[in-house]
Amino acid sequence: MSTTIQDLIVEAERCVACGLCLPHCPTYRKTGSEADSPRGRIQLMRAVAQDLLPNNDRFKQHIDLCLSCRSCETACPNSVAYGRLVDSTRALFIPKKNFVLSLAKPFIRCRALMNGLVRLLKLTQPWLRHTVPAAKLLPPLSTPLHWQTLYPSTAAKQQGEVSLFLGCASQALDSQTLQAAIHALNGLGYAVHIPAQQSCCGSIARQMGDGAEASALLAKNRNSFASAWPILTVASGCGAGLADYLPSHSVKDISAFLAECDWSQVSLKPLAQRIVVQDPCTLRNGQKSHAAVYSLLKKIPQAEVVALSGNGQCCGGAGAYMLTQPAMATQLLNDKLQAIKARDVQLLATSNIGCSLHIARGLAEQNIAVQIKHPVQIIAQQMARAAK
Ligand code: SF4
Ligand code: SF4
Repeated sequence: MSTTIQDLIVEAERCVACGLCLPHCPTYRKTGSEADSPRGRIQLMRAVAQDLLPNNDRFKQHIDLCLSCRSCETACPNSVAYGRLVDSTRALFIPKKNFVLSLAKPFIRCRALMNGLVRLLKLTQPWLRHTVPAAKLLPPLSTPLHWQTLYPSTAAKQQGEVSLFLGCASQALDSQTLQAAIHALNGLGYAVHIPAQQSCCGSIARQMGDGAEASALLAKNRNSFASAWPILTVASGCGAGLADYLPSHSVKDISAFLAECDWSQVSLKPLAQRIVVQDPCTLRNGQKSHAAVYSLLKKIPQAEVVALSGNGQCCGGAGAYMLTQPAMATQLLNDKLQAIKARDVQLLATSNIGCSLHIARGLAEQNIAVQIKHPVQIIAQQMARAAK
């Protein structure tokens, strides 16, 4: 994480300005401005790092508008590490004194505090929905669960041991997916460890320019996940952040892991339904394991598994982006809603809680009824029924 200005300049100079990344950049496609393109941003970063341009509000606006979706990185023939560049730029040149992040820090750092907050919000949510209009947009909260440190395998033949990363948003809003992951892994013969001291992955802090906080959270996770077992993540936003910044550990998306498992001990009940898959950028461009979601879901007999059109473009959720850049986030969300309506989607599978919440909010506002599930929820549900 501790990139220096010199490191940043060296990486930025690897960009040969070919422009092949431009058609893949959602913000460039929307604004048509070179300064909102990957090539333009890299030139700006380099110029500011070399003191050729001032580090002013205009520079900050162009960097802030970047989604960190890394579509440009995937498209780049020269493998310029754009994700690292933008993270370093935010940490070195535009660290934010963000009031919301400052307030959220104690909760992000401490799971017990976070659980207390979620319980309070859950208790008051019906009242909030009646009295505060914006609270209607809050997703239904999960009751925080007490996680055991070990969930033993339930299969006849043991396959191994893994660690599970909980993630703060997944714990608060999507404990069903974490339970489904444990169920699937145990059924396939894996013992699941949940280190009690694990914390937030640090991705939101990094995105907000708080490199010190992101590093502190990573250090906590590095100590908590000290064993050699693979660390499995259910939210690809967390997975990409951990895989990039904890290279000493084997971090894997749950679908990628499950797709490669030995399924001979398990039978899946057929599901005669079309499952439309949305690829989160963090899975597609970060962990580069989006193809595994399709392989995994295709194991379900009779399921028709198809990609949502426009999957190469970010939905606009992008961590805290939906809150910090609502206008662009809404434009990108509308494109996603159009694709969902055009395909008459009934069941949408997505591997990231951020995308799931952002798309669900858009669907609710337009009264479009679509079930959104994590792929592992769909798989576990078919396993559970098969076991009856
Ligand atoms: S990360 Fe995404 S939004 Fe940012 S420059 Fe690259 S393609 Fe554009
Ligand atoms: S594709 Fe790569 S080398 Fe070409 S302009 Fe984009 S970042 Fe630079």
